[in-house]
Amino acid sequence: MSILVLNAGSSTLKFALFAEQTCEELARGLVDWRGTADTARLTLQSPHGDFEDGAAEITGYQEAVRRILETLRASGLNDPVHVVGHRIVHGGDQFQQPTRLDEQTLRQLEAVSPLAPLHNPVALEAVQAARSALPEAMHTASFDTAFFSTLPESASIYPVPWSWRKDYGIRRFGFHGISHAWCAMRAAELLQQSGQPWFRLVICHLGNGCSATAVQGGRPVATSMGFTPLEGLMMGTRSGSIDPGILLYLQQQKGFTGEQLSDALNHQSGLLGVSGVSSDFRQVEQAADEGSQRARLAILMFADRIRSTIASLVVTMGGFDGLVFTAGIGEHSDRLRRLVASKLGCLGVQLDNDRNRAGQADSQISVDGSPVRVLIVRTREEQMIAREAQRLLRGAGES
Ligand code: ADP
Repeated sequence: MSILVLNAGSSTLKFALFAEQTCEELARGLVDWRGTADTARLTLQSPHGDFEDGAAEITGYQEAVRRILETLRASGLNDPVHVVGHRIVHGGDQFQQPTRLDEQTLRQLEAVSPLAPLHNPVALEAVQAARSALPEAMHTASFDTAFFSTLPESASIYPVPWSWRKDYGIRRFGFHGISHAWCAMRAAELLQQSGQPWFRLVICHLGNGCSATAVQGGRPVATSMGFTPLEGLMMGTRSGSIDPGILLYLQQQKGFTGEQLSDALNHQSGLLGVSGVSSDFRQVEQAADEGSQRARLAILMFADRIRSTIASLVVTMGGFDGLVFTAGIGEHSDRLRRLVASKLGCLGVQLDNDRNRAGQADSQISVDGSPVRVLIVRTREEQMIAREAQRLLRGAGES
């Protein structure tokens, strides 16, 4: 028996297959519609060999799930799928734990969609596609917000009229929780601090979306993303935190609509907005190397905001023991890590340049004896979701 994990984005569907008993990863792959509307790139990596179809005729999730299952079988991965674990970005106030999906929980989840209109509806579409392709399997959801359900009030309430919390549910939810939870666990393991209540970490998840979280004794105490995944660090196309007065000015004086503001802040800002080159960090780095001033500025601002956020999270905990870099940029850009660490000596961060350049995942890149240990951790969101699905399955007495 196996566990299939589906992670649906607006133009990609990541998937991974795990052995049900051990949660060992058997295969992983991607359906990618970026660049073409009616065809997709389907890739699969497994110990049985890799597979790639550069122009698969896949127009929606229904077809995508069917093709994923077909491709897994064709690669010799024939074990029946017993459980499907889905990644859902927003669990709202209601879903603070991994949850089994049935008609009732799905209805409740639909009510959460307005809180994450760019993320939840596509994930729910993928859930429906998977349920119709695999009706006998148990379907579960892991939520990016769930890790933050225990954030202290002082970190989750905004200084706005009290009625906003009461009447509209405005509060900090926090996102990327599946990744932060994995990294917190893995870093504690690597530094032999598992279960230590005073062990303090700052985790920087730097991918297309970026967030930083302060974790003490395995629990988050503050995080940079907020009511939406738009707050906090500068990102690929998202602005991160800006003066809310800018929005009021553009709306009241320049006639911007909500839709225009949403598009600008979510899709035209961040690295793309400043560099004018790309939202992709590698391309921004390349443009900077080729002399683009705006690309250089984008990288400096990106690093500066990460540093300032780290400092503020450290102060919240009164100090820290470890700093973790993860996700595409965090794991792979030694330049970015060096830039971020370059002014954190005052907080006890001492990077080892050779280790940083070698950039090995799940390893320490600070100098021996650095007061704060710096780590690169490869995030494994799908693995985390598979483990949560396995726990739910065992709880349901089905294995
Ligand atoms: P997502 O947030 O969509 O899961 P990733 O975590 O894969 O995305 O992060 C994507 C980002 O990581 C992109 O900006 C990409 O340029 C960056 N990235 C990936 N590999 C490298 C690399 N070798 N050097 C610098 N940046 C990289």
